[in-house]
Amino acid sequence: MLTKHGRQPIREDGTLPVVTTKQPITSRLLNLIVGKQRGAASVQELQRARQVVRLGVVFSVTILLPALVLSYLALSTLSSVERQVDDEYHTRAETIAEEVEQEIVGVFARFEDATTRRLAMGESPLVRISDLSPHLRGAYQFDLEGQLIAPFELARANAQPPPPQHYQALMAEARALVRNDQDQEAAPLFALASSAAREPVHQAEARLAEARAWAALGHPSIADELLTTLHADHANVRGSRGFRFDHLSLLLRAELAMTSDPKQKGPRAYRELTDKLLDARWSVGESGEATMVSHTLAILARSADQAWVNDRRARLRERKSQLTWSNLISREIDLVGSGAPQTARWSNLPARFDSPSVWEIYATDRGVYAFSFSLEALETELAAAIDLINAREHNVTTSLLNIGDPLPKGALWTLPLPPPLSSVLRVSVAQTHPGEVARLKQLRTRTWGAIVLTSVLLVGFGVFLSARTIAHEIENVRVKADFAANVSHELRSPITQIRLKGEALLFGLVDPGDDTIEHYSAIVREAERLSRLVDNVLDFAAIERGAKSYHLRRDDLIAVVWTTVESHRSAIEDRGLEIELDLPDDLSPVWMDRDAIGQVIVNLLSNAAKYGQSGGWVGISIQQSNNSITLSVSDRGLGISTADQERIFDHFFRSTDPNVRKKKGTGIGLSIVSYIVDAHGATISVESTPLKGTSFTVTFPLEPPAGAGVNA
Ligand code: ADP
Repeated sequence: MLTKHGRQPIREDGTLPVVTTKQPITSRLLNLIVGKQRGAASVQELQRARQVVRLGVVFSVTILLPALVLSYLALSTLSSVERQVDDEYHTRAETIAEEVEQEIVGVFARFEDATTRRLAMGESPLVRISDLSPHLRGAYQFDLEGQLIAPFELARANAQPPPPQHYQALMAEARALVRNDQDQEAAPLFALASSAAREPVHQAEARLAEARAWAALGHPSIADELLTTLHADHANVRGSRGFRFDHLSLLLRAELAMTSDPKQKGPRAYRELTDKLLDARWSVGESGEATMVSHTLAILARSADQAWVNDRRARLRERKSQLTWSNLISREIDLVGSGAPQTARWSNLPARFDSPSVWEIYATDRGVYAFSFSLEALETELAAAIDLINAREHNVTTSLLNIGDPLPKGALWTLPLPPPLSSVLRVSVAQTHPGEVARLKQLRTRTWGAIVLTSVLLVGFGVFLSARTIAHEIENVRVKADFAANVSHELRSPITQIRLKGEALLFGLVDPGDDTIEHYSAIVREAERLSRLVDNVLDFAAIERGAKSYHLRRDDLIAVVWTTVESHRSAIEDRGLEIELDLPDDLSPVWMDRDAIGQVIVNLLSNAAKYGQSGGWVGISIQQSNNSITLSVSDRGLGISTADQERIFDHFFRSTDPNVRKKKGTGIGLSIVSYIVDAHGATISVESTPLKGTSFTVTFPLEPPAGAGVNA
């Protein structure tokens, strides 16, 4: 085994020490590849082989292993593709549901902001409520006991006992007199009725009627006096038609003022009454104040400032609509009052199915404000937002559902809306076309599958190509190692022959006569063989380096064939070969380098001799056609298998056929032939049948080849 350190020191007993060198893994692989028995000529090849092994290791670590890992990862991502589609859809659906949620959160946040701001500025949040939120329908204020204090009161069921019969009779009689314009007589009857009444409402009705009678009789001062007492005693009492007596008395006063001073006092009294009515605490379920404001505004419309009238009309409208809404939810107002929290700043009551209202509550230390929103208005707003989302999204459809409604087909996500709507509504996001997700999964899986498969195949192909290149390199190393061994062997045999024959002659061991001549001619033959071999090796080295150049000129191919055959005649005849030349009489000159073509003929001829039968036949023929000249060298020897025919022109190639291996050779003869033929712009082909024979044909063009005379 070769070591880097060269010679080993000799032991005292004269023996060489036993050196056990640690074999690196690359060396062991190397031995497996190129075998253990290598001569000095293989040193270089061994080094190259080491490189190949290193390349193999690097290849495994940098290409094969990553390729396997990548392929594994790619295949494992395939399994997550379906999950990804689900995730994508769910994330999308979740985002949309949250968007809808934000919409409703925004509605309440904006409202709470506006209301808090207004309260901070000391303004009432009970008026101009549409400025606070377009969905707000009613705003209420409760005291700490939970009693509704503004802007309404809840109608109390006050079943009045029927008035005494005496009262009824007096009133009926008096009213009949009023109808007949007998107010004078009616007035004392009303006074009597008033004192006969037991309930304040009946007293007040009688007293008001009396005041009217006196007013009609043209005694405004008496009427006024009566109204003053009425106001003092029964201001907050509500009459049977829903009007409060203080308002009724003010109305009568305004009528009187209008009669006495239609320009100033009259309208002023009406205006004051209107404002009082609009500021008053109305009663849920009663519409007296609203009716009376409509009446006063109708009168004022003729005399008062239009802007003022319009402003009051707007307020009337708002209060009327709040009143209507409050009628609708009167039961809830009661509940809110009694159950409103006192501590939290903002809170809400969960919406109820049967209620059109949604409540937001603002608790302060002085009382509670409760705000009633229309559930329908909020739903409409959400529906509009959802319409926009649906117009934007194609793959999913969002819908607003009542909590109890079944989920639509292909539902991906549902989200209850935030309080106070949480117990009533929820958002659902579903696939627009049920089955879409499944279809998309299939499509993605297919696409990804195709990509992954292609990548894995490409990676596999790359690995295969790389492996093949390495295998090729390894094969090259083996072939070169063989070449080195073959050359040594090839050299040894003629040198030995020359030395033996020379020594025999030198020491007079040969009988004079034929034997001497035979020895001399053997020396010449072996020297020729040696020189052919050396020529081939040197030429091959020059060609490999790119240092070989050919000088092409028009020359006579027949003459070259003759010269070559002649110069090798003795060797041919020694082998007992029959050589048959089939040469035309006349031949166009061929563009060639005479020496190089001579070498082609020698190589083909020596192969024909080598692989032909001993004592066999070798034929050389030249033929001319219209545009080419062919030179064929044929034998009737071993022949070449079809597989080997592909490779015989490769460097160092030698057939593995044992019959071929018996013959000496280096595997470069045909490589050189192929180089030379190429450099001449010619082609070479082989026709061979195993055990029948082989024919190599070189076809020369008649035209001068491009680059004639240029380096090969
Ligand atoms: P070698 O030194 O081995 O002859 P060559 O390059 O001349 O190298 O030939 C390469 C191989 O081609 C030979 O080893 C042999 O297998 C095959 N070969 C070449 N010429 C012939 C022939 N005339 N008959 C049979 N085999 C041949």
